[in-house]
Amino acid sequence: MSVRRRTLLKVIVLGDSGVGKTSLMNQYVHKKFSQQYKATIGADFITKELQIEDRLVTLQIWDTAGQERFQSLGVSFYRGADCCVLVYDVNVLRSFDTLDNWHEEFLNQANPPDPKTFPFILLGNKVDIDGGNSRVVSEKKAKEWCASKGNIPYFETSAKEDYNVDTAFLCVAKAALANE
Ligand code: GDP
Ligand code: MG
Repeated sequence: MSVRRRTLLKVIVLGDSGVGKTSLMNQYVHKKFSQQYKATIGADFITKELQIEDRLVTLQIWDTAGQERFQSLGVSFYRGADCCVLVYDVNVLRSFDTLDNWHEEFLNQANPPDPKTFPFILLGNKVDIDGGNSRVVSEKKAKEWCASKGNIPYFETSAKEDYNVDTAFLCVAKAALANE
């Protein structure tokens, strides 16, 4: 009989305020969505247990409590991160344009041993809105950005409709595990 090791992986979620970071986490972990705007989930992180092949993994997913708007998130937020999830809203150009800043901010603050191979994942959220008619950032444009940063995996998601949320976070977990 094999003894299973449980692996704790730290994931941090970054992106402009309002893009749906907290909603994506809540959908993934609690299978819930709220239309109401809540700036915080009231905790530094939430956890999700999952099994990847023969490994038991605990994902510790760190949320911002609205500080992304105006203040630094602090070093403890970034310390020991195994994967960074970047989120933008496909309907808001500014949230796409600021991805460069979030990417750079992460690398500066978390200071991973090998910045070139550190796993990032990009999520283009809120693809449900207006049946996609109000989107201003195309999938092609998003994928070009990902290619320019060293082939970051990209997923289009809807926290509201639970579209691609599990798939995206499974990719996050696998990337974090590979980086462990
Ligand atoms: P955060 O500031 O990045 O954490 O964003 P929130 O998760 O608080 O979401 C901001 C607002 O967008 C809330 O009113 C959510 O209900 C809404 N929202 C989040 N994700 C989606 C989505 O996929 N589709 C739609 N239509 N609304 C969303
Ligand atoms: Mg939030």
